[in-house]
Amino acid sequence: MTGAVLVAGAGPAGLAAAQALASVGQRVVLVEKESRLGGAPILSGYAKLVPSGEWAKDAIGGMVSGVEGEALVTVKKGTRVEQFGGAPGAFTARLADGSSVEAGAAILATGFTHFDSVNKPEWGFGTFPDVVTTTQVEQMISSGGGIRCPSDGRAPRRVAILLCVGSRDRQIGREWCSKICCTVSCNIAMEIREELPECHVYIYYMDIRTFGLYETSYYWRSQEEFKVKYIKARIAEVTSDGEKLIVKGEDTLVKRPITIPFDMVIHAIGMDPNVENASIARVFGVNLQEHGHIAKGSAYGALCETSRPGVFVAGAATGPETIDDSIAQGKAAAMAALALVQRRDGIAA
Ligand SMILES: Cc1cc2nc3c(=O)[nH]c(=O)nc-3n(C[C@H](O)[C@H](O)[C@H](O)COP(=O)(O)OP(=O)(O)OC[C@H]3O[C@@H](n4cnc5c(N)ncnc54)[C@H](O)[C@@H]3O)c2cc1C
Ligand code: SF4
Repeated sequence: MTGAVLVAGAGPAGLAAAQALASVGQRVVLVEKESRLGGAPILSGYAKLVPSGEWAKDAIGGMVSGVEGEALVTVKKGTRVEQFGGAPGAFTARLADGSSVEAGAAILATGFTHFDSVNKPEWGFGTFPDVVTTTQVEQMISSGGGIRCPSDGRAPRRVAILLCVGSRDRQIGREWCSKICCTVSCNIAMEIREELPECHVYIYYMDIRTFGLYETSYYWRSQEEFKVKYIKARIAEVTSDGEKLIVKGEDTLVKRPITIPFDMVIHAIGMDPNVENASIARVFGVNLQEHGHIAKGSAYGALCETSRPGVFVAGAATGPETIDDSIAQGKAAAMAALALVQRRDGIAA
């Protein structure tokens, strides 16, 4: 019997790692700081996921039930690792709940933090109730309440989606592209048009990054089938005339100022590094990269390594990632951790 593998974080990456390890007979201790498993898609109440179109509660909820029903996985919720010492094959972790875990390897699947739009005050979030974020719209859809203006519950007739809120913005120290928010925004725009066919939806963008095959199924489909309108613009501010929200900026294709009224403005928020990364790095003795994500080792040969031997990393802990890539990385980290514990136990040469 090999020692356990410690997995920190039970989002898509951590769940995939735990499931993969258990499926080959490896014991796992899964430590999640929240009282529920599932990571951002469950904790933030995402609706239908891209690209599968499955509801998050079914797709990721299914992963949660799989792991919770797995005898080889010990789940510890509502706690964190506070101390972590030892060497590959023989680590000891002390948890905030007072328990200890002996582990041959560890996988950090501690994910990301949603950008807080109050850090972009000129775009109206926190000042005007009908300026909302993509996560709030996901929750409106997943709760079954439909798309409604928070101020008075009316169905909006004109909606603006502003891309790159908290991403690609050097002024607020966030240079990275969050990878998924263009595609998520196209999807939300189509969902609004489907629920409210009379509602006009505009997407304001710097560039559209519906990467790979998403160009056809989200970008072009949203325009051709759902009549979503795209405006290349630099947004200066979101204000109100007392009745409507007013989006002001410059249309950068025709180089003209724009001032357009809307009922609802949606911020396509980006993916920040986990706010706890400094303490996670200190506890586990791993390096962070320049923006505060957990630094990866080699990009190819030794996938999922961190700067500390025996401690692996997967998913959005390393930077913006999609769910399917986070799952793939969780499985790759599981393979690396398994190889290590089996080597230490003399199972593999
Ligand atoms: C608005 C929005 C919509 C999105 N929609 C989609 C989509 O439709 N399709 C798609 O592919 N991607 C989507 N994404 C991206 C998706 O959220 C991520 O790809 C995914 O959540 C990453 O999974 P993860 O397991 O790496 O991290 P997370 O989902 O962030 O999970 C990390 C887990 O670790 C826990 N944790 C954190 N710190 C600690 C700690 N110190 N100790 C223990 N536990 C800890 C957290 O509580 C959490 O449960 C969206 C992102 C945003 C912002
Ligand atoms: S995916 Fe799109 S919205 Fe998100 S940061 Fe990149 S370019 Fe901006």
